[in-house]
Amino acid sequence: MTINTVYDLAVAGVQKSIPYKAGKPIEELERELGLTNIVKLASNENPLGMGQKARAAIESAIADLTLYPDGSGFHLKQALAEKFSVQADQITLGNGSNELLELVARAFLTPDCEVIFSQHAFAVYPIVTQAVGAKAVVVPALHYGHDLQAMLTRVTEKTRVIFIANPNNPTGTLLAQKDVEAFIAALPSHVICVLDEAYFEFVSQSETIDSVSWLKHYPNLVITRTFSKAYGLAGLRVGYSLSSVEIADLLNRVRQPFNNNSLALAAAHAALEDTDYLQRTIANNTAGMAQLTAGFAELNLMWIPSAGNFVSVDLKQDGKAIYDKLLRKGVIVRPVDVYEMPTFLRISIGTQQENATFLKALKDVLADV
Ligand SMILES: *Cc1c(COP(=O)(O)O)cnc(C)c1O
Repeated sequence: MTINTVYDLAVAGVQKSIPYKAGKPIEELERELGLTNIVKLASNENPLGMGQKARAAIESAIADLTLYPDGSGFHLKQALAEKFSVQADQITLGNGSNELLELVARAFLTPDCEVIFSQHAFAVYPIVTQAVGAKAVVVPALHYGHDLQAMLTRVTEKTRVIFIANPNNPTGTLLAQKDVEAFIAALPSHVICVLDEAYFEFVSQSETIDSVSWLKHYPNLVITRTFSKAYGLAGLRVGYSLSSVEIADLLNRVRQPFNNNSLALAAAHAALEDTDYLQRTIANNTAGMAQLTAGFAELNLMWIPSAGNFVSVDLKQDGKAIYDKLLRKGVIVRPVDVYEMPTFLRISIGTQQENATFLKALKDVLADV
């Protein structure tokens, strides 16, 4: 082995891995272009700002910051267990639900394993797969969503993990509950199915989500959820998984002992009980989705119907170029070329005012004003 740089020393999967590209921070655009009043609709964050209950919980938790956090997350787990009628020891807390995806990879994958996920699926799946040197098996999408039939046919003796995002990001596509359950039921027992429900709260208002009840039948099911989206705490990094007690035990063995900080634990617990904030979030999202899609229709643009707090719109031209022009008008959205959707942009639902600002900017950019 010839070693030219330290890159040659990295695990093969890491050498090939493409770093995750986050939505552009507001402050960065301010710095680069000297703009103010920037609208960011790029990272599916909650446009209402943090809830009052979460804020109050953080303020009281500040007093104890010299102490390590509760590494077992006792109070938050109790509250989640009660809310979803599961045992507390079926819950694993993560530094964002992204950490749970990584814990699954570290607990279950070796370079001999195969991991199945869909084309256009969430970008963190290939990252955690490659980081442990496992082989990614990417299954072509069906109408921008997961093709469960095709995914099932790709299961082999080597398959160890399957990632399914429902709704999916960045497409917003939603699989029917009965189809997801049938898929999980058809999996052999050597395959762990991770059902990523980061946008669950937006769906559960209009449809019954049964996935937690499936845990009783499928010890190989892991459901991941987050406080980053509907609960408006993306900056604090709190996610959780619901699984069998056995999987939770295994994930717990690989996580860092204090992976959630005290402010995050306190705020998430308070946010869970702030039903008023959640209702306002959902109402804003429903109205904003209608507003954006009406705007797209007016501009004769096609979009993918979305069950999340974002929508991907097809501009039928280079999305990156439109993205750059929108930046110059102080609007940050998300290019999705890395998701093999080069003509699309993904727009997070904002406040009514933010959505209007974006639509006006898009109209002007498309008219080349
Ligand atoms: C945003 C998102 C997540 C994770 O977010 P965290 O902030 O790490 O909880 C996970 N899955 C999907 C599909 C997402 O869009």
